[in-house]
Amino acid sequence: MQLRWAQRTILSWATALIILSYVQALPVGLLKCLKNIRSRSESSLVTPSSPLYDTNRIGFNSYFDHRPRAIFHPASEEEAASAILCAAANHVAVAPRSGGHSYEGYSSGGRNGSLVIDLSQFQQFSLDRRNNIATIGAGTRLGHAYTRLWENGEYLIPVGTCPSVGVGGHGLGGGIGVVGRKHGLLTHNILSMTMVAANGTIHTVSPASNPDLFWALRGAGGGSFGLVTEFRVQAYEVPSPVTTVILTYKPDKMGAVLSAFAKQGKIATEDLSATLYIDKKKIEIEFTYLGSQAQMQGAIDPFIEHIGEAPFQTEFEEGTWFQAATRWGQRAGSTLEAASIGNMTFYHRGRSLFYRDLLSEDEVGVIEKYLQNLPKEKTWGYILIDLWGGKIDRPSEPSAFDNHKGVLFSIQFDIFWSSPHPPTPGFACEACLKWSADFVKEMQSIYSSGPILEAYQNYIERDMPDAFQAYYGDQLPRLRQIKKSVDPRNVFRFPQSIPLP
Ligand SMILES: Cc1cc2nc3c(=O)[nH]c(=O)nc-3n(C[C@H](O)[C@H](O)[C@H](O)COP(=O)(O)OP(=O)(O)OC[C@H]3O[C@@H](n4cnc5c(N)ncnc54)[C@H](O)[C@@H]3O)c2cc1C
Repeated sequence: MQLRWAQRTILSWATALIILSYVQALPVGLLKCLKNIRSRSESSLVTPSSPLYDTNRIGFNSYFDHRPRAIFHPASEEEAASAILCAAANHVAVAPRSGGHSYEGYSSGGRNGSLVIDLSQFQQFSLDRRNNIATIGAGTRLGHAYTRLWENGEYLIPVGTCPSVGVGGHGLGGGIGVVGRKHGLLTHNILSMTMVAANGTIHTVSPASNPDLFWALRGAGGGSFGLVTEFRVQAYEVPSPVTTVILTYKPDKMGAVLSAFAKQGKIATEDLSATLYIDKKKIEIEFTYLGSQAQMQGAIDPFIEHIGEAPFQTEFEEGTWFQAATRWGQRAGSTLEAASIGNMTFYHRGRSLFYRDLLSEDEVGVIEKYLQNLPKEKTWGYILIDLWGGKIDRPSEPSAFDNHKGVLFSIQFDIFWSSPHPPTPGFACEACLKWSADFVKEMQSIYSSGPILEAYQNYIERDMPDAFQAYYGDQLPRLRQIKKSVDPRNVFRFPQSIPLP
């Protein structure tokens, strides 16, 4: 075991002692213990008796109706550490929350009775322009990260396009966006982190300090090992110009579009990213190119030739990186700022599979069948396919994401439904849940990309068969050993957290 906990610095022990004295006589009841911290600080505490409890406990997906014991918003690492010790002393599970976008509601604990530690006060940002390193608080939303990086000298970090997703969960589970093929995932670009461990100690986690934990956090870090409060991330100067285009086809071209996506995607330039959106009525291929429209045309022509037909609608936009980011934000809300706050209510079920090659005809047939047979309720069902590859397969440091090297694309199977008025947490559309489960089960049963199912851990799914294998491949034994060394009492736990050996 490379983690040398016995050699932790004197500073680290001193911090633990200060925190222990801060928490005072343990164990006391959880709420009393948390109130003790709250009374001396800028932290805030939301308990079941608080009027804010019902809005504060729900994340992005209102389908999940978990009832945490409390939601604590620490203002510093020391206060977060105190809260973790309160939970540990009372045998309460800790669930970190950054942006609240977990597909299974795991940042609310994934079940009743956890202590949610919400990092929304961790919004720190700075940019070292000599070394192009951004320091970002874990509670920062992607939209705010885009804005701060742009305003501090026109930089970017590789992240997804949805502005309300949190840097914390996103970076610890992967993080693919439009520069992923050029610069890798967010997780690959993390240079070091600050993490509060289950025993209340505060660590710098980097290749030089805690290399095993550094490996594990980047790919398997969401909610299993400790609370990450800050990331130091490789930043890049933005390319100029940036061009986006949406090519729209009729649904009957699905086989040809999927074939072009897989075949041309394998050889496409890394300056090009591609996402395919397919619903009952249309197919949209959204390309983003790190260059001009004229340059982009040469990169997308092979896709159109392969499809054998021009799209019936084409929308090009050439502009700055930030204009492109703003457009993505506008699709998710009114402005990038409003979309970054992300206070809308959604009811959603999402699942995923990774593919290493072209889909079989049977798989295309199953997709057609389910998209043409959506539930009768008011729903929005679709699939979203992201092209992977490029730098994602050549990370500069090994990480717990590496079993997915060589993946060609991911498919997300998504369905949203509306709720009665007023919005009701936990409201289920049974037909939608069945549609989603049946669709993915059928796709899994004819999976063409190998004998073992593979899926994206950032689209975590409770029903995924052999989920640890699908997310982490053969790396689970190593992850479990690291879990034991850093959280031997399993304080950080949720239904799919890395288990103790
Ligand atoms: C609308 C939408 C769009 C998305 N778009 C993309 C995309 O373009 N690309 C992509 O790769 N993914 C995308 N995702 C998936 C997203 O990356 C994951 O859901 C991610 O885990 C969300 O991070 P979060 O901080 O918002 O979520 P949270 O719900 O806060 O956290 C997710 C998990 O990580 C844990 N966690 C959160 N913060 C910390 C922390 N600081 N320390 C330790 N553990 C922590 C939580 O306990 C939970 O288990 C999208 C998701 C949604 C809902």
